[in-house]
Amino acid sequence: MTGLCRKQIAVQVCGIVQGVGFRPFVYSLARRLGLAGQVANTGRGVEILLSGPEIDVDRFLHRLKTAPPPLARITGIAVSAHHGPEPGPGFSILASKDNGNAEVLISPDIATCDDCLRDIFSPGNRRFHYPFTNCTNCGPRMTIIRKIPYDRAHTSMAVFQMCPACEGEYTDPGDRRFHAQPNACPECGPTVSWHDNRGRLLTTDNENCFAACAAALRDGRIVAIKGLGGFHLAVDAASEDAVVRLRRKKQRYAKPLAVMARDPATAETICRLKEAERKILCSR
Ligand SMILES: [Zn+2]
Ligand SMILES: [Zn+2]
Repeated sequence: MTGLCRKQIAVQVCGIVQGVGFRPFVYSLARRLGLAGQVANTGRGVEILLSGPEIDVDRFLHRLKTAPPPLARITGIAVSAHHGPEPGPGFSILASKDNGNAEVLISPDIATCDDCLRDIFSPGNRRFHYPFTNCTNCGPRMTIIRKIPYDRAHTSMAVFQMCPACEGEYTDPGDRRFHAQPNACPECGPTVSWHDNRGRLLTTDNENCFAACAAALRDGRIVAIKGLGGFHLAVDAASEDAVVRLRRKKQRYAKPLAVMARDPATAETICRLKEAERKILCSR
C-alpha cells in the first residue's frame, strides 16, 4: 500500500538544464502523473518541488533520470524531503530565482532542428524564409546569454518584445516554443539588412537581401555576413579569383579556409568522408 502514501520532495538538478526545454519537460511530466508542485531555474540549475502519491513521485524521478530532454546533460540530481507547506493544486513554472550562485552549465548554440527547417521552407508558414527561426530544441544559447539564470531578459533577445503570436507559443505548454527564450518571428524578432561596402543601407526586405547576397557571391564578390559570433567573410569557393582576392585582402596566403557545403552529399563531391567525420558534420 506504499503507493498510496503521499510524498513531498525537493529536487535540485545540475548540469546543462537551462535552455534545453527542461522546465517544459518537467511541467508536462508532472502534469501527466497528476503531481502538484513547481519548477524554477536557479543560479545552480533547476529546482523542482513535487508532491503526490509516492508511487507517482518515484515514477517521476525514474523518468527524470532515464529519459531527460535530449539536449540536457545532467551532472547531478539531489533529492531531499520537503517539510514545508504542501504546494497548491496543479503544477506551475515559477519565475527564475536569481540566488547569486552562478554555477549552472550553459548549452552551446544548437543548429536549426528539422521542425524549424520545415517552418522556414513552408510557404504560408508565418516564419517562411525567416532566418532567425528557433524553438526549445534548437537555436542560439551560449552566444546570446549575458547572465544566468537563462531567461530572455538575460539574453541579447531582451530588446525584442514578443508579438502576441510568439507570446502565445511561449506560454502554451503544448507548443514546442513553450518557454523558448529566443523565440522570434518576422513581426517581432531581429531582421536582416543588406549594406554596400561603405556601410550604406540598400534594403531591409528579407527576400531581396538573400537574392542580393546570392548574386554578389555568384559575381565573385566578398560578402561579410553578420552572425551570432561575429562577421563571417564568404566567397564562392569554386571561384579561384574570388578566393585569391579574399586571401590577399585578409593577408592569409596559406592557411586553409573553411568550405561550407549544404549537406554531406555535397561535401562528398569535393572530399572523402569517413563515418566519424560524417557524424560530426551532421551533429547539431
Ligand atoms: Zn527548432
Ligand atoms: Zn513574433
